Amino acid sequence: MNSIELVNFRANFPILFEKVNEKALVYFDNGATTQKPEIVIKTEKEYYQQFNANVHRAAHQLSAQATSAFESARNNVQHLLHARHAHEIIWTKGTTESINLVAQSWGMNNLTCDDEIVLSYAEHHANIVPWQMVAEKTGAKIKVLPLDKTGIIDVDKITRIITKNTKLVCCSHISNVIGKINPLEKIIACAKTVGAKTLIDGAQAIANIPVNVQKLDCDFYVFSAHKMYGPTGVGVLYGKAEVLNAMPVYQTGGEMIKSVSFTGTSFHELPFKFEAGTPNIAGVIAFSSAIDFIHQFALNQADEHKQNLNDYCYQQLSLIEEVQLLAEGKPDIPLFSFIIAGHHQKDIGSYLDAEGIAVRVGHHCAMPLMEFLSVPGCIRVSLASYNSLAEIDYFIASLKRYIGITSDTDNMICVDKLKT
Ligand code: PMP
Repeated sequence: MNSIELVNFRANFPILFEKVNEKALVYFDNGATTQKPEIVIKTEKEYYQQFNANVHRAAHQLSAQATSAFESARNNVQHLLHARHAHEIIWTKGTTESINLVAQSWGMNNLTCDDEIVLSYAEHHANIVPWQMVAEKTGAKIKVLPLDKTGIIDVDKITRIITKNTKLVCCSHISNVIGKINPLEKIIACAKTVGAKTLIDGAQAIANIPVNVQKLDCDFYVFSAHKMYGPTGVGVLYGKAEVLNAMPVYQTGGEMIKSVSFTGTSFHELPFKFEAGTPNIAGVIAFSSAIDFIHQFALNQADEHKQNLNDYCYQQLSLIEEVQLLAEGKPDIPLFSFIIAGHHQKDIGSYLDAEGIAVRVGHHCAMPLMEFLSVPGCIRVSLASYNSLAEIDYFIASLKRYIGITSDTDNMICVDKLKT
């Protein structure tokens, strides 16, 4: 993307023209949620204005239209993931619910006190706590994969942790703190040698890199729409059909049944058996337009602009002596976590906020990782394709000014640059 293309691309995101604390918004919190393009906002509105109806039920035109848009969104996700079947795509509220579904349905019915669940130190709480709940009830043990000094799962240690007792291996494709691609091929291959199932948390990967679940050969892959330019309240659970078919239902109620009587109930086939109640129809349909948007601009492919953002932000942060990045080496996506000795992350976050720069501070829902890295919390800067090198300059100048190593004049130059 050259600078004119970037200006045009940014025009798709109305919020980027908002002011925060009377400053131009610099949104560097894309790991938490991305901003939404106009087309996603418009699609959600169009559903409510033009064909609002419940899906899979009524015999009327609006319902048929809503059902068709809803199911074509499922096909869209199938193609995005290169899944074998559309019925391997289950709608959920988000990554968290997808993992809870697998934990409660597969975990509670397949794990015993002789079994082990393997996680990594870099997991988000959403990929830890549901397994702790299952472990408590079933007696299964949790084992944890360590990371190497670059912050990815240490492949040299996997065969020590994944053993014949391992029944499930869960890890993130890209950690929400480290920003690096985990060596999934090796981890999944190792899990297969002992017959363990695999669940990959793709929450940070899916908007940034191409994902092919058949090539990965994982059993489950989960993510949220809101981290990939889509609406909140929509998520995906991909599961291999044979694994999902063998799992008992999760929540029960309308939509997921075949027939109900007081002598017994029978359930639908996939995918509906896991989709109880009225789903987030507007959200799912709008999510589909977010996927089209991603394809239109090849946002999940390696591109020069994203590479430049990554290289430049890494280089600029590395040049500041006071900045300590949490892991060695450049991340694979433009997501950087760091601390500045002697300064509390919250103070830095507030200072940057006053400058109009949105970053995330704290433990990032990864407290075990903070402990592993011996830090109380950190500052996370996560960029998306609508960000610019000028925004990085402005952020770096603000950060330096906070630390006390730059002047107001430097910052003014950057503010002027941002306006152009
Ligand atoms: N896993 C990872 C790696 C994440 O980054 C997040 C969101 N920060 C989640 C899980 C949870 O996602 P959600 O809150 O959308 O369910």
